[in-house]
Amino acid sequence: MSFHVDMVTKRTYHGEESAKRLLLWLNQSKRRDKASHDRVSRLLLDLQAWERAYDEPGNWASTYSFLPPDEKPVQFDRRAEKQLREYLFSPQLRFTRAGWDLSWKLRHGKTSGFAMTQYLDGPGEPGQCRIPIKFGEPSAVMAIVRAAEQGFLDRIRGCRRCREWFYARFQHMVYCSENCQQMYVRSSSAWKKRKREKMRELRALHKRRLFK
Ligand SMILES: [Zn+2]
Repeated sequence: MSFHVDMVTKRTYHGEESAKRLLLWLNQSKRRDKASHDRVSRLLLDLQAWERAYDEPGNWASTYSFLPPDEKPVQFDRRAEKQLREYLFSPQLRFTRAGWDLSWKLRHGKTSGFAMTQYLDGPGEPGQCRIPIKFGEPSAVMAIVRAAEQGFLDRIRGCRRCREWFYARFQHMVYCSENCQQMYVRSSSAWKKRKREKMRELRALHKRRLFK
């Protein structure tokens, strides 16, 4: 098993591995099936807002979502509950070379949503044997439910700059990468102002040297 190797060479964070498939699905569906992506991401954001409201005593009495601003205030706990009631799933089990693969199938509903193929690592070296599995909207919803149950729901976030979904290893992380963090800082008005001032200083210095 590669477990020992992983422990030595790579730090793993609670929930990061199981969040991987959900993140892939969220980022793919965003480009390819907006309706499906919006349904699932709204459920995720509602549950996260619910969690935050509970964290702050005093806020609990009015668990209103303030976003998006053009919509009426909504009680996100009720909306999340209602949305979850609409999903009726059947578990689907399939035996593969990597063991049992569990996926979820919608029993009925308006749409089955976005589905993609993902891969499980089979026996042998990682990448040597890849087993295709189907990962659809029901599986994404179940991944969110499991993340809530296992306590890492708040780690699944959209990057403040590029909007890609990512797993936040630390509480304060709001960017998917160091690159996005730097790009965001550079595009902010404070940074541009500082840069303009710096250029002005340089030009003044240059002038003084020229006319000395
Ligand atoms: Zn980003």
